[in-house]
Amino acid sequence: MRTGIGYDIHRLVAGRPLILGGVKIPHPKGLKGHSDGDVLLHALVDAVLGAAGAGDIGVYFPPTDPRWKGADSRVFVEGARKAVRARKLKIGFLDAVIVAERPKLSEHRLKIRDRTAEIFGLAPEQVNIKAKTREGLGEIGRGQAIACFAVATLTR
Ligand code: MG
Repeated sequence: MRTGIGYDIHRLVAGRPLILGGVKIPHPKGLKGHSDGDVLLHALVDAVLGAAGAGDIGVYFPPTDPRWKGADSRVFVEGARKAVRARKLKIGFLDAVIVAERPKLSEHRLKIRDRTAEIFGLAPEQVNIKAKTREGLGEIGRGQAIACFAVATLTR
């Protein structure tokens, strides 16, 4: 069994859709990024690549590459799944903590989990998504960013 950790943070800005785990969440601001800014999928991709011993998302999809401008983050997940398959591994479980002051994510949690599972080709029971606030502290607490921590477990 192998484990990997992932982390990501993106700025919240006006005029962008907020997409988490492939789900569009109603909010006046969205995540800024070269791609669609899906901080959850990015952290999970890094966790999966970490567990596979396959580097990180930037190795496969450099943000300087115009091909990934505005990219749907599902493309990055496809890359991670390919790296896992190439090493004859498979994803056993994904766990993540989304750190966001606003919007409140509890009502979207299961939808985000189900969509994330689908994107990674997993059963919903193989994914767990948690949401935390920063109790008003720092840039996340001021609603200027959303971060995500993730852990992936891979098996042979
Ligand atoms: Mg990112």
